[in-house]
Amino acid sequence: MARILILIVLAWILYQIIKRVISNAKAQNPTQEAKPKSDERMLQCAECGCHVPESDTKVINERIICNNPECNKVTHGD
Ligand SMILES: [Zn+2]
Repeated sequence: MARILILIVLAWILYQIIKRVISNAKAQNPTQEAKPKSDERMLQCAECGCHVPESDTKVINERIICNNPECNKVTHGD
């Protein structure tokens, strides 16, 4: 009979752990959905053609240039 009691206690502990995991997962979901970074626009670099977040770009001679050093070197092409 003691084994059955131990099984019941183990099952109850498992149930409590599962309940906690589920409530943690529910609490984390809203924060993942409300990511501010996903709002950022992606712009294409005029030099390398890469798509980079707007905050990683700058405008040189009215051209969008990413923060790649290779792209920043080229100022007078053609
Ligand atoms: Zn670039």
